Amino acid sequence: MDVGKILAPLRETPTLLAVICMSRKIYIAGQLVPQEDAKISVYDHGLLYGDGVFEGLRSYSRKVFRLAEHVERLFNSAKAIWLTIPMTQQEMCAAINQTVRANDIVDGYVRVVVTRGTGPLGLDPNKCSNPQVIIIADVISLYPPELYERGLEIVTVSVMRTHPAALNPRIKSLNYLNNILAKIEGLQAGCIEALMLNHKGEISECTGDNIFLVRKGVLYTPPIDAGILEGVTRQAVIELAEKAGIKVRQIPLTKHDVYIADEVFLTGTAAEVVPVVKVDSRAIGTGEPGPMTRDLEKRFHALTRE
Ligand code: PMP
Repeated sequence: MDVGKILAPLRETPTLLAVICMSRKIYIAGQLVPQEDAKISVYDHGLLYGDGVFEGLRSYSRKVFRLAEHVERLFNSAKAIWLTIPMTQQEMCAAINQTVRANDIVDGYVRVVVTRGTGPLGLDPNKCSNPQVIIIADVISLYPPELYERGLEIVTVSVMRTHPAALNPRIKSLNYLNNILAKIEGLQAGCIEALMLNHKGEISECTGDNIFLVRKGVLYTPPIDAGILEGVTRQAVIELAEKAGIKVRQIPLTKHDVYIADEVFLTGTAAEVVPVVKVDSRAIGTGEPGPMTRDLEKRFHALTRE
């Protein structure tokens, strides 16, 4: 058999071949194992009830962006749900770096998951033991590149952001159904991101991104108590704007504020900074990505390359 002949067509599709051959090394139970062997129990309450927490991080040039901040948020989420992560924050940082290195990730995405662990059927977390720490280092592209050029169209959806007294959006829990239901409603309206309002009818955040508006040279974003995740990218953009002498106001905002904004953009670890040019079929400003958005996008990219 001429193996060379058989493999010839595959050689012409090196990207496909690379994807087929790519098996990630997953950090699980304190070890790095091939992804085929990375398994958890079907009795893990992370699976049965969404009982657990997670983080999404990015690496740029092999360095994880704002690692300490993400790990701190993970531990805060865990604390809020009485979940003890079986390692220190320093050990978590080391495990994340180890996983990024083991997978030779240069510019990529890291997902950290901490589950409640295995227990009998029934909600009681006290009956669970052995929380699982899982770390995946991979690549991601959330939105197609042309959307960063043209800007995104989004819609506000009827699915309300979880009331902070029910499940505080500051907790990045494994139960993302609130966001997924909003995402579905957005997708059904032809939009890949959707804006959620809080129980007071104010703007909260998108399904996986925080939102910013620009009006008359001032940058606005909803405050944390509007019921949002304290985005690491949101914080980075606020710091960049303040450093550039831009006035930043964290105040309650309404749909009306969004409609009359000069510019709108979203921030998130996966999305980075992405312009929004249409909300609920209304053009924002000129209908094209605005100058402050472009400027902050540039500053953010420079920060990630530092
Ligand atoms: N809001 C929600 C609901 C999210 O899931 C995310 C993504 N983690 C964000 C905002 C953005 O947060 P960050 O900048 O930390 O990724």
